[in-house]
Amino acid sequence: MSERPGDGDARKAVEPVICYPVETLPAPDMALYERAREALTKYEEIRVEPRDAACFRVPQGHFFRIRSIEGPQVGDLNLFNAGDLSERFYSGKTRGLHGTHITTGERMWSNFPNLRPMATVTHDTLGWYGIDQFGGSVHDVIGTRCDPYTHNLLTSGKHYHHCCHSNLSRAVASELGITPREAEDYVHDVLNVFMCTGFTRDTGQYFMKASPVRPGDYIEFFAEIDLLGALSACPGGDCSSEHSSDEAACYPLLVEVFAPAVGALESWRPPALNGYDRTHGV
Ligand SMILES: [Zn+2]
Repeated sequence: MSERPGDGDARKAVEPVICYPVETLPAPDMALYERAREALTKYEEIRVEPRDAACFRVPQGHFFRIRSIEGPQVGDLNLFNAGDLSERFYSGKTRGLHGTHITTGERMWSNFPNLRPMATVTHDTLGWYGIDQFGGSVHDVIGTRCDPYTHNLLTSGKHYHHCCHSNLSRAVASELGITPREAEDYVHDVLNVFMCTGFTRDTGQYFMKASPVRPGDYIEFFAEIDLLGALSACPGGDCSSEHSSDEAACYPLLVEVFAPAVGALESWRPPALNGYDRTHGV
């Protein structure tokens, strides 16, 4: 342990400031989305089997829901710009802007150089959960995704093939007609849908606990751009114990895609590409 300086207590007592105050962030027109979601027409369902993943497409201006259907289950979500797969969800910056977990009114942002909203959360039946006594909350952008590489390190060399990373790799591979090994380059840090997580106060470690999700719960998004999504039903099930084995009870998840009524979003404008000129000072 290093030696505490004489003014150590005073340095620790300095009040924190928010890194990214979001008051000046372009805000979604939630009243418009709220009106539009009153008359949605479901036209597609994609079932994601336990310990597996599936891809789905959502046109710009449409809505999609991820729904718990048979039992408590968490999902790992990747999003791509369907027309340019180099634009994808940026978990780290979304965390910087909205905090460790996202809910209604918050957005999934894309990577540089676009850094624009890909999807906006328009409804979350677990919004009531808030932040619990352990500092835990739902739908995190902390965890990266369970993966066979970390599992291999932590288990002295074991191989497990149904971690979310591998599930997403297989799903993206079959969607794009490439191999899972090629597809894993596209797989990125996820939104942990329905997962209940936080950081321990004493050690700062990432923790998980049994998800409060129950069949019927859903999180709903508005597609700000044309989206290709990939969703894995995590081998951890509700993530109450472990997440890289066949031990946990696992259930399917359902993705539902909805069209808004004609004219419902007439005043809506798609998000612009980021305005930075990209000269980087040169
Ligand atoms: Zn997982």
